[in-house]
Amino acid sequence: MKSDNDDNLPEQPMLEIIHANFGWLHSPPLPPASCHGLILRHAEKVVLVDTGIGMHDIERPLERIGHEAIDAAGFQFIRECTVLSQIKKFGLSAKAVTDIVLTHGDHDHVGGLADFPQARVHVSAEELVEIKAGNPRYNPEQFSHGVNWIDYAATDCEWLGLPSRKIDLDVDAEVNLIWLPGHTLGHCGVAIETLKNKLLYVGDAYYLRAELENSDHPVGELATIRAEDNAARLDSLRRLTSFATEHTQNADFFGYHDISELPDYIPGLEAFKPI
Ligand SMILES: [Zn+2]
Repeated sequence: MKSDNDDNLPEQPMLEIIHANFGWLHSPPLPPASCHGLILRHAEKVVLVDTGIGMHDIERPLERIGHEAIDAAGFQFIRECTVLSQIKKFGLSAKAVTDIVLTHGDHDHVGGLADFPQARVHVSAEELVEIKAGNPRYNPEQFSHGVNWIDYAATDCEWLGLPSRKIDLDVDAEVNLIWLPGHTLGHCGVAIETLKNKLLYVGDAYYLRAELENSDHPVGELATIRAEDNAARLDSLRRLTSFATEHTQNADFFGYHDISELPDYIPGLEAFKPI
């Protein structure tokens, strides 16, 4: 019940969900691909969802990513796109980042971790097992600063019908890992629900949104090659297709690499001069 005193209380700051591009990949003749993650800002506190290409990657690309991956994916090294640069534009320091939620451990998603060594890093237990076991698709250099991991094992609840694991974050939102394996063995999406928004970030469960409507989309060939478990990847894609049909009205969703899903205010690759 509202009391007379409520009017005098300072208004609680709301969680702000900021879409951002944390880097570019371009390997012609393929079109450019984004690293579209999220900055969740709650007053002076920041939670990141994936971290793109980081400052340390720009300083030491060969050690941290390697020649083969840089060429194959077409990594572009652009300081302005790093999360660290973008956080500073808000007038915040790296220390404002208390938590990072990761979809998986691929080079282009974890590069910014070392720029926020104090942050707690939330990931599925299955993914952490692969990272720690030295699965060759990951580069241990990107984790060598010592990551403060928090892993989630049980798929114990559902979010809009999708199997999920609740993440413990001290922000004004419910955040869940959504079990979407296949691209990697522990790959998850991330669902963010506030009073106003329901948003599902699918990570690399698809490369292009068009894959949901066209199961024979040509990009499926690359997705198949990159998948640790292709049958699981296709299952995840099918779950997302049903989700997209059932929840068009009450939830938004987007992936990491499809530039058509970037908001208009985010500049294209042509706006930058890669190093
Ligand atoms: Zn990726």
